[in-house]
Amino acid sequence: FFTNEIMGINNQNITIKKSTTTKINEVDFSNLSFGENFTDHMFECDYIDGKWTNAQIRPYGPISLDPSAKVFHYGQAIFEGMKAYKSVDGAVWLFRPEDNLIRLNKSAVRLAIPEFPKDLFFDGMELLLNIDKEWIQTTEGSSMYIRPFIIATEPGVSASPAKRYKFMFILSPAQSYYSGEVKVLFADKFSRSASGGVGFAKCAGNYAGQFYPTKLANEAGYQQVVWTDSSTHEKLEEAGTMNVFFRVGDTLITAPTSDRILDGITRKSVIAIAEKEGYNVEVRDISVYEIEEAAKNGTLLEMFGAGTAAVINPIVSFHFKGNDYDLPKLENSYASIIKKKITDIQTGKAEDPFGWKY
Ligand code: PMP
Repeated sequence: FFTNEIMGINNQNITIKKSTTTKINEVDFSNLSFGENFTDHMFECDYIDGKWTNAQIRPYGPISLDPSAKVFHYGQAIFEGMKAYKSVDGAVWLFRPEDNLIRLNKSAVRLAIPEFPKDLFFDGMELLLNIDKEWIQTTEGSSMYIRPFIIATEPGVSASPAKRYKFMFILSPAQSYYSGEVKVLFADKFSRSASGGVGFAKCAGNYAGQFYPTKLANEAGYQQVVWTDSSTHEKLEEAGTMNVFFRVGDTLITAPTSDRILDGITRKSVIAIAEKEGYNVEVRDISVYEIEEAAKNGTLLEMFGAGTAAVINPIVSFHFKGNDYDLPKLENSYASIIKKKITDIQTGKAEDPFGWKY
């Protein structure tokens, strides 16, 4: 299918095999489904004999693994999600990428996976983005979703950490998307994480475990589940695969990160921007009863999820213990103001007073 030629070896000993064809003309950039198209190349690097080695960029395509590879049996798999943006002058920007690497390595430690080195992470990602830069569009709302991940490749079904792993970057062009009206259900039975568990890690199993309760919620007419703490189901923690914010009166409230909650990069950016805007921000436990009461007395003004994929996703209603509560439709919501501030920094339309752009 591809005729490859070795293009050269760079400073970090990353071997580059370029594809001689491109799929770019087959992609309708004005009508992208999230995460379904991938660029012409991918980056990979193997962990063998105690070190990361064989770093290479090659044409995007299937990888071959032994059926007994530990990732298939014990789920030793972690990932990250980040975005690159191209400004109209052609410069490519990342948003707080070092935080993704730090979080990847926190996930790695928790899943007994070897950490990935910073120089290879940045050199691999920058080279790959550079090779596939035509794929990063400059039209409004366009970005390149970057998916780094590590899987245990060592063959053998003994239940112990693998000695071999593969790290990869794959790239998927994305558009800002409107997810429609998001109605949520407060979880009162299922949990996505538990104290002492792996909720703070971006490990594959956390997502597999969410699919079934989310499917039940979908069937009941709700798009997302708002996860509550596993022991009481009384503290509101995350919304689907996003961190969650509540606006009660003029105060923006979000749960503190813990071993049950992912330390979202969008979440901390929202907090920083809200504080800079002079909003009152509280990072504290949020009780389901407090939010129910605020909905009843009309002080609950907004609820939204925050995460890399959609940046900010407003929630229009929630279900709790047999009742549905609607949120008001606001002009100039905190969600819309903060979303614009973040995306303007990400895309280079506004100054970046925080030093987040890379
Ligand atoms: N919580 C969960 C469970 C997630 O998967 C994500 C997406 N990475 C987030 C929160 C948001 O994190 P970020 O803002 O870093 O994308």
